[in-house]
Amino acid sequence: MIIKNVELETVCGITSKLPDNQLCEIAFAGKSNVGKSSLINGLVNRKALARTSSQPGKTQTINFYNVNKELYFVDLPGYGYANVSLKVKEQWGKMIERYLHESQVLKAVFLLIDIRHEPSANDVNMYQWILANGYEPIIIATKADKIKRSQLQKHIKMIKTELNVVPGTKVLTFSALTKQGKDEILDLIEEIVEE
Ligand code: GDP
Repeated sequence: MIIKNVELETVCGITSKLPDNQLCEIAFAGKSNVGKSSLINGLVNRKALARTSSQPGKTQTINFYNVNKELYFVDLPGYGYANVSLKVKEQWGKMIERYLHESQVLKAVFLLIDIRHEPSANDVNMYQWILANGYEPIIIATKADKIKRSQLQKHIKMIKTELNVVPGTKVLTFSALTKQGKDEILDLIEEIVEE
C-alpha cells in the first residue's frame, strides 16, 4: 500500500460523538510511550503528524486520520500513565470501550507492545478487551532496533506467551528508527482493507 495523502480529520474527546465514517477503520492501541505516534508517523511518512508523548496525559482523544481517502487510521488514547487520577483512567477506558463497541467500520485493531519488555497487566487487559469486543488483535512489537536480531524470536515468543494469544495471532515487528517492518504492516493493512 502506498500512502499518498493523510490528514487528521476528526478528534474525539470524552464526550464527543464518534464519527459515522463510511470508510473502514484500522485502530492502534498501546500504552503510553510504546511508540504508537512514531509508528503512525512512520507508516504515513510524516515526522510529526501524530503527537509524540513528551507530555503525559495529553492523549485523551481518539484521532481519526484519513489515509488516501481510502481508510482511517484510528489513534486510540495511550493507557498506563502512572501519574493520572483514577477518574481520568476510567474515562480513557470508557472512551476506548465505546469506540470498540460502536464503530460500524472497524476492521482490525493493532496492539502495540514494546519488544523489550514483558507485557504489563494493562496490556493483557487491553488484549482481552479487544478480543471480547470481537476483534483478534494483531500485535506489533515496537522499537525492534533496541534488541539484537538474534533475540527477536525469543522476545516475540515471550510476548505471545504473556498475552496468552489465541492461536494464529500475527505478531509483526517495527522500528521507527530503521523502518524495519513498515512494508509488512502496510501490506497487511492493504489485505485487511480489501477483504
Ligand atoms: P507513544 O506515547 O506511544 O505515542 O510513543 P512515542 O511514539 O511518542 O515514542 C515514545 C518514545 O520512544 C520517544 O522518545 C520515541 O522517540 C521513542 N521511540 C518510538 N519508537 C521507537 C523505535 O522504534 N526505536 C527507538 N529506538 N525509539 C523509539
